[in-house]
Amino acid sequence: MKSLSSSFNKGCEPKHNLGLGVRLAVLLLLAPIVVKAEWFGDARPMMGTEVSVYLWSDDSEDGLATLESVFQEAQRIDRLMSTYKADSEISEINRKAAQTPVASGAELFRLISRSLEISELTDGAFDITYESVGQHYDFRGHQRPDAQTVETELENINFRFVQLDDEAQTVRFGRDGVRINLGGIAKGYVVERGVSILREKGIQNAIVTAGGDSRLLGDRRGRPWMVGIRDPRKEGEVAISVPLQDEAISTSGDYERFFDEDGVRYHHIIHPGTGSPASGVHSATVFGPDAVTTDALSTSVFVMGVDQGLRLIAKLPDYEGIVIDSDGQVFYSDGLEQPAKPASE
Ligand code: ADP
Ligand code: MG
Repeated sequence: MKSLSSSFNKGCEPKHNLGLGVRLAVLLLLAPIVVKAEWFGDARPMMGTEVSVYLWSDDSEDGLATLESVFQEAQRIDRLMSTYKADSEISEINRKAAQTPVASGAELFRLISRSLEISELTDGAFDITYESVGQHYDFRGHQRPDAQTVETELENINFRFVQLDDEAQTVRFGRDGVRINLGGIAKGYVVERGVSILREKGIQNAIVTAGGDSRLLGDRRGRPWMVGIRDPRKEGEVAISVPLQDEAISTSGDYERFFDEDGVRYHHIIHPGTGSPASGVHSATVFGPDAVTTDALSTSVFVMGVDQGLRLIAKLPDYEGIVIDSDGQVFYSDGLEQPAKPASE
């Protein structure tokens, strides 16, 4: 059983942001001991968010080169999977797959296939065809689709419209107007790939983060990493810190990409049943062995809500979850030992 500490508890570890970016859904809490020459780290804007790598290496040249290779890998994956890039494989699929089967590279094919498995697992809460509506949002420009557009595009949301041919490695859409977007799973994939590269290079202690998704390699040299789950309504503040090693953790929040209009928050996680942003939850965190899975599941649990979401997590023995609902109340999955309440409460 994992024991958690709440930021309200006395004796919580000191918090250092380390410049990894306050926009991260997961803030890393590092004690001063890590700020040594042997730790190498960098954070770069990528994939519409920030990718960061932090690792321990005995050799500075190797350490820096290894950092670089993880960033290059993130860039390669983004070029393949970004709907913002007209020449990406996924953009080609979105343009043509309603007319004809489109050949896809093995890597993209596998991730689309994994997305569809997670759709089955989550009864459609995770659905990459959310993009049929999602494409009409521009969060920076405060643009959202009107009610008529949502109604029309809602007809195009259903993961079963995505037909994969395993033999030919092609993707076909069963309906005109369907669009897909891997935004709910691709960052987890970047993190997994990053950690694989680090392992190949012999690194034993590291964190790779892309937006709200992180994977920890080993521990913080003798102690667990402390990963903070952000307070969804207080920027820069941590609600709960979780000691982790050799594990992946993902948080989906309604504070990552959003705008407020007339008291309503329009954010980036779309309920496939309504075509509108999912309500009832401020953030959903999932941790377990694989970052691709935690990424997709955190988005799913956000959509499913506290009860259904935590019931799903209870069925998955290797995964745990923490949900903060829209009243700020915190809910934990069964395998977690909850933090002691501070004496003043
Ligand atoms: P972050 O991008 O902050 O890591 P998430 O992992 O929750 O957060 O992913 C949110 C992204 O997932 C959205 O920006 C969008 O690209 C995509 N998405 C939104 N709704 C869904 C959904 N119902 N199923 C699958 N992906 C979704
Ligand atoms: Mg996710």
